[in-house]
Amino acid sequence: MNIILFGPPGAGKGTQAKYLVKKLNGYQISTGDILREEINKDTDIGKKIINNMNEGKFVSDEIVNSLLKNHVFDPIKKEKLIFDGYPRSISQAKNLDLLLNNSNQKIDYIFFLNVNKETIIERIKKRKILEKRTDDDVSTILKRYDVYIETTRPVLDYYSKNSNFHEIDGTMEIDQITSKIEAFLNV
Ligand code: AMP
Repeated sequence: MNIILFGPPGAGKGTQAKYLVKKLNGYQISTGDILREEINKDTDIGKKIINNMNEGKFVSDEIVNSLLKNHVFDPIKKEKLIFDGYPRSISQAKNLDLLLNNSNQKIDYIFFLNVNKETIIERIKKRKILEKRTDDDVSTILKRYDVYIETTRPVLDYYSKNSNFHEIDGTMEIDQITSKIEAFLNV
């Protein structure tokens, strides 16, 4: 079973992805984590992307798509992919369709965690204290939110007519959201 967790920054995608990894023996494909790892390891890619990440801007499709591909084609992860933070644009959604098609896979569930701007700002302020992410200060959050509205939110139109698309109120408590997801998955 492959799942997309979709929503603005701070919607709780990572939290729910970690839960689903345990519950389903799956693999969290967080493009944010994958990119942060490149920065932490100080790779050539890491050096190229650090400024964009810190400023809340997108990393290029070329880089993100090539890193993603390894995970989608990994035979161990096949049919156990839990996407968190990808796709983030219509072109990424089309790329994902292509990669899945080419590896004989599909998306089984898309969960849209819907959260308003005020809640996002409050949550990310708390996350900055806990995780010390350099892109979690208020001005960068606002930038990331604008990028979400402009480029990521239109992906909803791409998916929302599918019967496997489910909108969930992401302002609920973590375990309430988990229960909703479990109900859809029948697990
Ligand atoms: P996240 O951990 O999902 O909040 O992502 C943190 C940052 O990583 C984003 O603000 C972007 O700079 C970059 N990033 C993560 N996923 C993507 C993606 N799918 N496309 C482009 N940039 C991304």
